Amino acid sequence: MSALLEVEALETCYGASQALFGISLTIAAGEMVTLLGRNGMGKTTTIKSIVGLIAPSAGTVRFRGERIDGLSADRIGRAGIGLVPEGRQIFPNLSVRENLVAWASNRSAAAEPWTLARVFEFFPGLAERQQHMGNQLSGGEQQMLAIGRVLMTNPHLLILDEATEGLAPLVRNEIWTCLTALNKAGLAILLIDKYVRTLVRIAHRHYIIERGRVHWQGSSEQLGADQALWHRYLGL
Ligand code: ATP
Repeated sequence: MSALLEVEALETCYGASQALFGISLTIAAGEMVTLLGRNGMGKTTTIKSIVGLIAPSAGTVRFRGERIDGLSADRIGRAGIGLVPEGRQIFPNLSVRENLVAWASNRSAAAEPWTLARVFEFFPGLAERQQHMGNQLSGGEQQMLAIGRVLMTNPHLLILDEATEGLAPLVRNEIWTCLTALNKAGLAILLIDKYVRTLVRIAHRHYIIERGRVHWQGSSEQLGADQALWHRYLGL
């Protein structure tokens, strides 16, 4: 498999305080990869550094063979990385339809791009609520809208920070089903979430981040078989 995203020796600081100390990771086309680790270990900072929301102080990020570190978040988005941020951040005073249309573009020049009709077909619940305002939606609907909105940009890589945070178990399962379907259709996915048992089932590979460093990386099979890792790094 060819590397879609290659992060090498990434270091990121918040002022004088260093949060990342040389993070390296790769994602191949079509892979689903997770970032795991306890709170405050650097997962969100890693994602923000990849998508250009924070400028890394050292290291490189290559996407589809091109250096993207140092580019603006907008340029990185246009290169084909779509972020579903923690807390969804959908527009509360725009309707579902307006939220989706506001983001539309075919960044990856896909032969069969995501359109409003396709997003509504994929998320029938959103179709029913298309005239509702963003702030009238449940948490699950908001997360589907946040994912649908990113799909409307036709990304090569979908990144989700806390993919199912605050969602009820049934809704969480809907999100997992939807991410699995997107990945099976060929979309590469990088995600942060804490439901390791599910992630071992649906994702291919995992990185455990501890105090700004990658402390372990491996396949779902390896992580699933090593409960000591769960206990040591994830507090489970
Ligand atoms: P969580 O699940 O709690 O979001 P995380 O693994 O995503 O955890 P980060 O949010 O990346 O962790 O935080 C990594 C480190 O950077 C922590 O020590 C945190 O306190 C620090 N940090 C995060 N955001 C900022 C900020 N805006 N200013 C200063 N320090 C920050």
